[in-house]
Amino acid sequence: MKKTVFVLLSLIFLLTGCDYAGEDDNSAGVSAIENGTDGTYTGTDDENVPTKKVRFIDLPSETFENMGVDEVYLQEVGFTEAESLEIIRSGFSNIRSITEGKDEATKAKIKNFTIDVPIMSDNSRAVAPKWKVCTVNGKPNQKFHPDVDTARIDEYVMKARSIAFDLFTETDFINHIHIRYAYYMWGEYDPAIGVHEGIDMNVNQLEGDGTFRTVVSGIVNEVQHDGSGMGKLALYVSRENSTYFFLHAKRYEGYITKGKSISGRYYAGLQGGTGNGKQIYPPHVHIGTEKGSTTFCASGTDLDLRSQIPYDKFYKYVDPKYKF
Ligand SMILES: [Zn+2]
Repeated sequence: MKKTVFVLLSLIFLLTGCDYAGEDDNSAGVSAIENGTDGTYTGTDDENVPTKKVRFIDLPSETFENMGVDEVYLQEVGFTEAESLEIIRSGFSNIRSITEGKDEATKAKIKNFTIDVPIMSDNSRAVAPKWKVCTVNGKPNQKFHPDVDTARIDEYVMKARSIAFDLFTETDFINHIHIRYAYYMWGEYDPAIGVHEGIDMNVNQLEGDGTFRTVVSGIVNEVQHDGSGMGKLALYVSRENSTYFFLHAKRYEGYITKGKSISGRYYAGLQGGTGNGKQIYPPHVHIGTEKGSTTFCASGTDLDLRSQIPYDKFYKYVDPKYKF
């Protein structure tokens, strides 16, 4: 483990008081799903997820990708377009060496670039579960919560891809280089953030326009327009007694209002990086589902996994022409 990572992790756990015993520690692995099936949640409310400023360059390597960092974002940090592409291609492994090679002023700019990272909730289990490790979309050693059925991970990736294509109405099935859909999956673990409670997907806005539709139709339980709150849209689907969530949008269309029924097939919003009313993440759409009619969406800033498995739920609404 790199020193910077260790320092960062120590800082996180010092700040949160989380008694984290390390990723290789094996706890009883109590099912977090069990706690969630009765619809009562102990998680923090997602409206005011506490965050702290962290130097971008100090983040653990997997965090760059899990946050949806793309070449546009890297250029904002201070890298050139060519360097950004090189960094993405290397899976972020050369980000620090490229930084060291820059002139002093640019190096200082990159090193001083901070982002708001959610602080893991005090509700985290006292001891980390034993993570399942598997290969996702060709990437080895990805860590998942023990409740994730990693034997189905290839199917989950395929379903996430179909959902993303429909959500962003992508039509380039051959190249599909514009869309990312499996970089931060449901139940995936990130040391800086926690266990992810949904699927992140985005479209490269150099290529696409970043608009999305919801795929599923439902009644609007809550909508946060123009980047307020978490940029949330909560859609209740009564026949399933489930609420479908979309987070981080920069804006939603004016026709989407509380109590209204909306179709999943029309343009609904624009992807963004909204958190706590600010643009803090690279642009993407986070989707997830919760049991019942609710506006509560598990925060994903602790080590528990409470939300419903989202893949099959979204996939059944995908237009057949986008199904892989
Ligand atoms: Zn997410």
